[in-house]
Amino acid sequence: MTDNKKSGLLVVVSGPAGSGKGTVLSSLMQDDDYRYSVSATTRGPRPGEIDGVNYHFLTREAFEARIAAGEMLEYTEYCGNYYGTPKREAEEVLRNGYNLLLEIEVAGAANVKRLYPDAVLIMLLPPSFTVQEARLRGRGTETEEKILARLAQTREEIPHVTEYDYVIYNYDGRADEAVADIRAIVRAERAALCRNADAATRYFQ
Ligand code: 5GP
Repeated sequence: MTDNKKSGLLVVVSGPAGSGKGTVLSSLMQDDDYRYSVSATTRGPRPGEIDGVNYHFLTREAFEARIAAGEMLEYTEYCGNYYGTPKREAEEVLRNGYNLLLEIEVAGAANVKRLYPDAVLIMLLPPSFTVQEARLRGRGTETEEKILARLAQTREEIPHVTEYDYVIYNYDGRADEAVADIRAIVRAERAALCRNADAATRYFQ
C-alpha cells in the first residue's frame, strides 16, 4: 500500500534496444504503487502507438514552447528528435506517493540525477552484447542498417553505466527476475534512512 504521507520514488530505467525494457516496465506497471511517465517527443508515432499513452506527440515548435515555459523536468535531443519528461505530471505523481518510472536514455538520466539527487537510476542490460545482437536480429523487424545503428548507439551508451546506481541483467525468458529485482531495489530504497531521516517526528504525529 502506498503511504500517503511519504512522497514517491523517482525511478529512472535505461537500457539499450533488446534489453527488454518494454516487457519489464509493463509488468511493473501492473503494480498499484507505480506510475509511468508519458514522455513528450517530436518523433512521429510508430504503428500502434497512441498519443497520450506511448508518448505525447508534439511538433518541434510546441516542444520548444514547453521548454521555454519551463514545463520539462528534463529533455534531450536524441537521433534528431526531442524527448522530454513533462514536469507537472511527474511532480503530482510523486507528491501523491507513487513511484514514478521514467524510461529515458543516458543523457536524460544524468540530467535527472543532477536535478533530483534522490532519484534512483537503474540500467537494464541484455546478458551481453552478443545476446543483444542475436535478439535484435531475431526480431526480424528491422533493417540491417537500423540494427547496426542501434548496436553503434549501444557502444556509446554502455560506458555511462558508471553513472547509474544499479545494473540489472535481463536473461532470456527470465524477465520476471528483472522485474522482481527492480521491485526489491525500490522497496529497499524507500526504506533507506536517507529518505526517512524524519522518522522520529513522523512517528509521534
Ligand atoms: P524511441 O524513439 O525508441 O521510443 O526512444 C528513443 C530513446 O529515447 C530511448 O532510449 C528512450 O529511453 C528515450 N526516451 C524516451 N522518452 C524520453 C524522455 O522523456 N527523456 C529522455 N531523455 N529520453 C527519453
